[in-house]
Amino acid sequence: MTAPATRAVVEALSADGADVRFVGGPVRDALLGRESSDIDIGTPDEPERVMALLERAGIETRSVPRGIAHGTVIAVAGGTRFEITTLRRDVETDGRHAEVAFTDDWREDAARRDFTINAMSMTPDGTLHDYFGGQADLEAGRVRFVGDPAQRIAEDHLRILRFFRFFAWYGQGEPDADALAACKDAAHTIPTLSGERVQAEMMKLLAADDPLPAVHEMRDTGVLAQVLQGAQGMAHLARLVEIERRVAESADPIRRLAALIVNADYGGTADVVTLSVLSSRWRLSAAQGAHLALLIKPPEDLSSTSDHATQGRLLHRLGREKFRDLVLLTWAGSGGSETAWREMLDAAKQWTAPKFPVTGADVLALGIPEGPVVGQLLASVENWWIEHNFMPDRKLALTKLDDLIAKRRGG
Ligand code: ATP
Ligand code: MG
Repeated sequence: MTAPATRAVVEALSADGADVRFVGGPVRDALLGRESSDIDIGTPDEPERVMALLERAGIETRSVPRGIAHGTVIAVAGGTRFEITTLRRDVETDGRHAEVAFTDDWREDAARRDFTINAMSMTPDGTLHDYFGGQADLEAGRVRFVGDPAQRIAEDHLRILRFFRFFAWYGQGEPDADALAACKDAAHTIPTLSGERVQAEMMKLLAADDPLPAVHEMRDTGVLAQVLQGAQGMAHLARLVEIERRVAESADPIRRLAALIVNADYGGTADVVTLSVLSSRWRLSAAQGAHLALLIKPPEDLSSTSDHATQGRLLHRLGREKFRDLVLLTWAGSGGSETAWREMLDAAKQWTAPKFPVTGADVLALGIPEGPVVGQLLASVENWWIEHNFMPDRKLALTKLDDLIAKRRGG
């Protein structure tokens, strides 16, 4: 909050005397002594005015879809993203969208925020405005709704998932009983939410140091079943988190999601149906979907006794990062020698990809016209080369290519 770029933005916004404050996440993080990546700022000024003030100070602005209508302007300075939002109150809500009106009342703006720990604001001189006891809740690890949980969830069903997300990050001990009861009663509303919003909250939840207490509560309230369609590899996830800690691996939400859906609880069978339902329900990107599919259904089985050749082939097909994911995930699912698994993680670190000795130009030189067949032939030779543990040299690989082309022509 004291960085030069932040000062510049705050100065620009308050140049004509507006009462500008930090709001939500950065205030919460500052009280915990953590850094925030995004800085949220509140102001009583309306968006057009905010844009004008920033432009006057020569600060770059960006618009987001529906941003102006919702009162949000983005500023970028010193490599940091600032989200500047006009104080708002809800006029009408339907559980999925809110119609808002601008206000100049800070308390009103705080009252529409979800949790007490997210409803604090702080002036640039460091004065904290805490209307609902957020600081005490933060210290005690209490994630508590501002106002009546059932009503706040009826206004926006996403708050169910946000409750578990913030509990995963900031909660200690037992979660708030009223909040839990309200989440349970409203769990059936989750399918009405957009996939993007569900995914964003779940990915953040799964990135918490230890997401398990939150995930357990989600299961017990019936919320997990609504977001994960029955796949509940809780034990697998628990072992994965424990292993990650032991080998000092950072938390990765996709790897953890894979643990939840691989479902070792049902004997380790890959749940491909769950994966396709999940991909469309959570609106996973093609890359995310492919990443998950590789972990859940790897091209070859891995175990703690897999030989170097198998490891090499998997390393080549998955790449170093996803191979490490697969090692951690499989270790968590099937156990086996810790020493062997650790050796595999080390091997992945040192691994350099052998270079496939044939190129598209070689295929063209053998008289194949440009087109999809070139790629198909290359892929066939590469697979054969991988299956032979990268041993065939260029000469052998070209002979193989010749054979394949001859077969193609012959048949
Ligand atoms: P993070 O560090 O994860 O971004 P954050 O507090 O900034 O944490 P956001 O989801 O970015 O979380 O939301 C910013 C702020 O907007 C929250 O702190 C909260 O005050 C408010 N907010 C966001 N979503 C909602 C919601 N669905 N209902 C009520 N308030 C919300
Ligand atoms: Mg944020």
